[in-house]
Amino acid sequence: MNNMKIPVLDLRPQYEQIKDEVQEAIQRVLESGQFIMGPDVKLFEEDVAAYLGVKHAIAVNSGTDALVIGLRALGIGEGDEVITTPFSFFATAESISNVGAKPVFADIDPRSFNIDPKEIKGKITPRTKAIMPVHLYGQPAAMGQIMEIAQEHGLKTIEDCAQSFGARYWGTCSSCDGHCQETTRASLRGKFTGTIGDVGAYSFFPSKNLGAYGDGGMVVTNDDHVAEVARMLRVHGAKKKYHNEVLGYNSRLDTLQAAILRVKLPYLEQWNEGRRRVAKTYNELLADVVGIINPELADGHVFHQYTIRVLNGKRDKVQKYLGEQGIGSMIYYPVPQDQLPVYQGQYPKMPVSNLLGTEVLSLPIWPELSYQNIEKVTNLIQKI
Ligand SMILES: *Cc1c(COP(=O)(O)O)cnc(C)c1O
Repeated sequence: MNNMKIPVLDLRPQYEQIKDEVQEAIQRVLESGQFIMGPDVKLFEEDVAAYLGVKHAIAVNSGTDALVIGLRALGIGEGDEVITTPFSFFATAESISNVGAKPVFADIDPRSFNIDPKEIKGKITPRTKAIMPVHLYGQPAAMGQIMEIAQEHGLKTIEDCAQSFGARYWGTCSSCDGHCQETTRASLRGKFTGTIGDVGAYSFFPSKNLGAYGDGGMVVTNDDHVAEVARMLRVHGAKKKYHNEVLGYNSRLDTLQAAILRVKLPYLEQWNEGRRRVAKTYNELLADVVGIINPELADGHVFHQYTIRVLNGKRDKVQKYLGEQGIGSMIYYPVPQDQLPVYQGQYPKMPVSNLLGTEVLSLPIWPELSYQNIEKVTNLIQKI
């Protein structure tokens, strides 16, 4: 019996790979003495803008702040409604509520776990100002149809890309039934998530595909005005120091984190490829297991999480069994955002997101996870 444990995420192999470069970068910042808005912040913004092919990248303190600042830079606030997915981490809806707007939830597609474009139209009211899709688990949402709806109704779009750095949209998600492929302008295909809508918001929380060693985030946009407002909001609402024009935030990305992220960015494609390899192996090894549904290997998916559905009410039992055998797993997310205590009684339950909250189980995944360890996990799932 090999009783080596497998956590849900292990960041150490990645650190081993880049240790020397990271330590050099940290040393360089320590010796420069410039810890706030040092040169690495601007350089990292330039690196990200170049990688994503977007005009502006504005580094901020967290993914949550990127959403809040992005919303406010788009002019969204009191009295406005923003349509989003119920099936996400609470930062998504929280950011909408925190700018004074109201989150309006549209149910998800059970295959992609992402907002279902067909559910969006019925939620539009005269107060609707924006749509906020989330590319959950690293899988691009149905941006073709979402952009069509946004354009038709004059709505802004802000993409929550906290889990999808490096994911590209190909219009082949199952939630579109091929519809996107037929109707989406060819110009969207192959674009990075976050560069299709008006604003993209990224998180560099350590566990994300591009993770810092602390908090961090980024707002990206092709719109000069949005970029200017976001830059101002990041530093207390001032374009010029001590000439504050609006109420902003202290939301700068630390120079140290920017320097670390600059080391990591060139490895991202390789790491995301590693995640896709792990997901593909899982799908192959789990193909014949009855009672579960594997995620689709959609083009451009970067597998921040590898999430299966465990049917017939057996999810908790499977998770408990895996835990007893030393295998980590997580439930993202047990309670849809609209049903959280903070919004108690404000929203009727939605069928798909509520069902999936009882079925989803995210298995261990990181770029370097070995075939043997994947097999260990899948053998146990097969057994139970
Ligand atoms: C992580 C995450 C966020 C928040 O990012 P932070 O950097 O932790 O503030 C927002 N949305 C989603 C979907 C996330 O997974």
